[in-house]
Amino acid sequence: MVKTKLSAHTQKSTCCYCGVGCGVVINKQKNGSITLEGDKTHPVNKGMLCSKGLNLHYTVNDKTDRLLHPQMRYSKSMPMQRVSWDDALARTAAVFKTFIQKYGPDSVAFYASGQCLTEEYYVVNKLMKGFIGSNNIDTNSRLCMSSAVAAYKIALGEDSVPVCYDDIELADCFYVTGANPAWCHPILWRRVEAHKAANPDVKIIVVDPRTTDTCGIADLHLQLNPGTDITLNHAIGRVLIENGDIDLDFITNHADGFEQYSRLVFERSLAEAAQICGVAEHDIRLAAQYIGQAKGFISMWTMGLNQSTIGVNKNLSLINLNLITGHIGKPGSGPLSLTGQPNAMGGREVGGLANLLPAHRNLANPLHRAEVQKFWGGTEIAAKPGLTATEMFEALNDGRLKAIWIMCTNPLASLPNVRLAEEALKKAKFVVVQEVSNKPETLAYADVILPAAAWAEKEGTMTNSERRISYLEKILDAPGEALPDSEIICRFAQKMGYKGFDFKNAAEIYAEHAKLTAKTTIDISGLSYEILKQQGTVQWPYKTKKAGAGSQRLFTDKRFYTENKNALISAVPDALNSELPDSNYPFILTTGRIRDQWHTMSKTGKVNKLNQHIKQAFLEINPLDAAQLGIREGEVTVITSRRGEVRVKAKLSAEIKQGVVFMPMHWGKILGNDLNRVNNLTNDAVDPISKEPDLKYCAVSVQKYKKP
Ligand code: SF4
Repeated sequence: MVKTKLSAHTQKSTCCYCGVGCGVVINKQKNGSITLEGDKTHPVNKGMLCSKGLNLHYTVNDKTDRLLHPQMRYSKSMPMQRVSWDDALARTAAVFKTFIQKYGPDSVAFYASGQCLTEEYYVVNKLMKGFIGSNNIDTNSRLCMSSAVAAYKIALGEDSVPVCYDDIELADCFYVTGANPAWCHPILWRRVEAHKAANPDVKIIVVDPRTTDTCGIADLHLQLNPGTDITLNHAIGRVLIENGDIDLDFITNHADGFEQYSRLVFERSLAEAAQICGVAEHDIRLAAQYIGQAKGFISMWTMGLNQSTIGVNKNLSLINLNLITGHIGKPGSGPLSLTGQPNAMGGREVGGLANLLPAHRNLANPLHRAEVQKFWGGTEIAAKPGLTATEMFEALNDGRLKAIWIMCTNPLASLPNVRLAEEALKKAKFVVVQEVSNKPETLAYADVILPAAAWAEKEGTMTNSERRISYLEKILDAPGEALPDSEIICRFAQKMGYKGFDFKNAAEIYAEHAKLTAKTTIDISGLSYEILKQQGTVQWPYKTKKAGAGSQRLFTDKRFYTENKNALISAVPDALNSELPDSNYPFILTTGRIRDQWHTMSKTGKVNKLNQHIKQAFLEINPLDAAQLGIREGEVTVITSRRGEVRVKAKLSAEIKQGVVFMPMHWGKILGNDLNRVNNLTNDAVDPISKEPDLKYCAVSVQKYKKP
């Protein structure tokens, strides 16, 4: 790898927005502020940055919204007051201990974030599972990629992304589904665009109910009806089989389940599948032809498949296309799930979800639990999975959960059916909010507020969508008394009286995490901060200290992590069980991201340049639907679901199907009010396996707003 010469005031880091994981070079100015540019030597972005990355420095240069001191209130009726760290953590520990003693360890929970660094994830997971004795630690990654985690586990034996970004330049067919990477993973998409420009024969198939910017370079846009992804994937699988465009050697020697799958996909005629999906039969054949003729085939997806009550099955139906064609474990091929958050992958590595254990160990396996318990030296690890994101708020509502600690996420904008979450926080006996910004609406419900250091104000590591681990330097001092999240958790654990949290620095936490991965499939026991600082980013597994010991691709030997080493082709049903439209709620609402905003806007909302792209929340509606409702461009509409109401202006667009409307997910009280928050409407029904909510599909009515 080429090395950049860095001056005394120049340091390197990684963008903390999406899971692409672009490298940045940061220049520290004499006045203490920073500027940044893309890292030309970085293997991911090769110097490029998208609009969000280019403006990342503003989020830490502007400290006007920062939480500076711990605050606490002694009862719900008292005002918040500034307190010392010692007092805040001592009281929190006392309250947690009381609940644990009185109601058991499952009466408390931590709700964290895919934006936490791996070290932060590691310590909070260790604290909850290994010492408090409950698995009630979940993160907002549950809302993002838990369906992909479950599907990888079923199909490949473990949650393992087989491909790397360098496969992009080796592929000649891309199937992009349930994703708009041109806006949401822009630098990755720039690489696809450049590859297509240099090789016009490369085929790009985009599957989306909306015509997004990603469709700009598509050879084929399959504008399917929302929720019909499995039917479409099965239909493509059927044509691949009919045409003989499958890899019989791979299917026979390295996969199970083909016969059942084959029977299933032939149960529906192509005409019937085309009618269900709302796409032309000819286009399904064309998609299969592009895939069937490809030497390198990458499937790429994100929330459009994951955020569904059938999210795991949607994922499996897609991975099937790679398996039946043998496009896995070889250059230019494989299923690539794009992570929405910068370190969702790091959280998966440390087992930072309610149903996981560190390093892909299995929570249901007593030997694995005993192994981790022995390593940590704490209490017995509970066999029962903990509460997942939406379950935590249900449990606050019905009183099972007494206390919740929310770190680095804003559930009152991001959770589905968010009014329920509001009710839950009102009812909660004790709420701790660990945050960088004073803006998130969740703060209003806090009993204790803990100020956290932001990106560039702490050191640690993150892992991007291709298993690439990068080290992030501490470049700036955090303002006021804000502390790194890992230090806050370790101080709290010590106040609880637990041993094993006296880490001197983040490097020591990382070393412990790496040691715990030894002899597992994500083995990074050879990796240290020193190696990351010397070599730059590396991909796991990384078993020895040798330079270049990282792993670009998985399954090159076609031996998977299942018991018999075969991948599993899953014959999954295509029935949709979302909330269907009816005469009262005749439209399907789908949600998504816009180019220049990130999550609930606590960072991007601070940057004027980014706010110029799209200034307000909106409802995208087909002009024919709008005409029937008497709604014109820019007029305020009232959108209602069984759970709540929203009022935003209409944006008429022929790029969305009739009967479907779209709203962006970002807006809430940070840059608006709770009447432009789409999650007033969304459904909190979840996938039975992944527990990921149905954020992309619910029934709504739309009306023109009339002044009362
Ligand atoms: Fe940051 Fe993602 Fe943009 Fe790269 S593509 S600069 S990681 S937001």
